[in-house]
Amino acid sequence: MSAATEMERPRIVIAGGGLAGLSLSLALKRALDGGIDVVMCDPALKRDPHGDKRSYAIAAAARRMLEALGVWGEVADRAQPILDMVITDSRLQDPVRPTFLTFAGDVDGHEPFAHMITAGDLTAALLDSCREAGVDLKAEGVKGFAVRGAHTEVSLTNGDSLQASLLVAADGARSHLREQAGIGWISWPYKQSGIVATIAHERDHEGKAIEHFLPSGPFAILPLKPEPQADGSLKHRSSIVWTERTENVPALLEAHPEDLLIELERRFGLQLGKLAFETKPQAFPLSFGVARSFVAERLALLGDAAHVIHPIAGQGLNLGLHDAAALAEIITDAMRLGMDPGAADVLDQYERARRTDITTMGMMTDGLNRLFSNDVLPVRLIRDLGLGLVDRMPGLKRFFIREAAGLTSREAPRLLRGEAL
Ligand SMILES: Cc1cc2nc3c(=O)[nH]c(=O)nc-3n(C[C@H](O)[C@H](O)[C@H](O)COP(=O)(O)OP(=O)(O)OC[C@H]3O[C@@H](n4cnc5c(N)ncnc54)[C@H](O)[C@@H]3O)c2cc1C
Repeated sequence: MSAATEMERPRIVIAGGGLAGLSLSLALKRALDGGIDVVMCDPALKRDPHGDKRSYAIAAAARRMLEALGVWGEVADRAQPILDMVITDSRLQDPVRPTFLTFAGDVDGHEPFAHMITAGDLTAALLDSCREAGVDLKAEGVKGFAVRGAHTEVSLTNGDSLQASLLVAADGARSHLREQAGIGWISWPYKQSGIVATIAHERDHEGKAIEHFLPSGPFAILPLKPEPQADGSLKHRSSIVWTERTENVPALLEAHPEDLLIELERRFGLQLGKLAFETKPQAFPLSFGVARSFVAERLALLGDAAHVIHPIAGQGLNLGLHDAAALAEIITDAMRLGMDPGAADVLDQYERARRTDITTMGMMTDGLNRLFSNDVLPVRLIRDLGLGLVDRMPGLKRFFIREAAGLTSREAPRLLRGEAL
């Protein structure tokens, strides 16, 4: 059935209910007294959100946004603050891993620079809030769109169509809508994959995150909230992001579980005691990608549909949440002035607001990965000297920690400062 509904008020259709699309949907619906008709479409809405066991580092600025949207309170007791960060530079066969850089995890007072949380918990909380706020959630894909003057006609996989002032493509790195809009994609592969899993361990991590820079890529151990057990004890857990040359990944994932555990222990170390896989390891091929433009006629790209970066600094989703905060602010400010939220000059503001931040973060993570994922002796000496110097300069360390927290930009959107739209 085809049902092109006339718009009674400005309508924004968001294609993709990943964490970026969900955050934008909620931010827009909570603004202007619910005056925007927000429709969020994603076939994945049919799945149980708790099924996603991956974990993410959510930087302080993004956490402030989730707090301003009323979501953080729903997940705070399941989020683990990162209280300390340790960085080492070594080879797999090195008997000890000398520490080159340490960070205490607080920015300004007692706010941790990041929290670890599972994607499932955060997605479920955002979905509940979207439902409660009145976002129209459709478990359908967006098939395509056609711009017709003052609106865009969005067609869904069930044959329905919707008129919208703006279509936001939050449909992930392989965005089919970006392609349909004819927006170019600059990208290169890293020949590395990120193996992610949750690891149970004997001893308390005490909120410490560890990143070992190894020649095949960074190996990160990220603390998760311990889980209370029926006998009153706590199950200690961490999430790993194990960057490995892609050619080695199939053999690792197909290895006997005990052999894989030995490989894990060689990287993880035994400081947290006995290890066990709590979730099945999953591998994600890593690449860099950025859209030539973040907007087209009545279309805006959001999150991974606009940019994909190396996970070395755990910033990919944080960039997507920053996009959501910026786009929500630009749209609501324009609508307060009576402007059309899908007009070209409104979308140009979004392009200008996000281009520098995204390019800088993309280049920084690309450069860090190239600098550390190798075993060339002169490069090792120079990078270790650099890390050692940073470790002795409190001002510079403070700058880096504020950068990781997403708190260095003076022009950060209001939501990232924890303010209402
Ligand atoms: C190994 C690894 C570790 C990472 N760790 C971190 C971290 O610690 N911190 C961090 O900030 N980032 C991290 N990232 C990056 C992060 O995973 C991504 O940036 C983030 O998940 C992207 O979210 P998104 O909402 O933009 O896209 P996605 O999560 O890809 O969501 C896209 C959604 O669009 C839907 N969709 C697709 N096509 C359509 C369509 N036609 N119509 C409607 N819906 C559609 C899909 O079903 C999906 O739900 C990591 C990445 C990797 C690979």
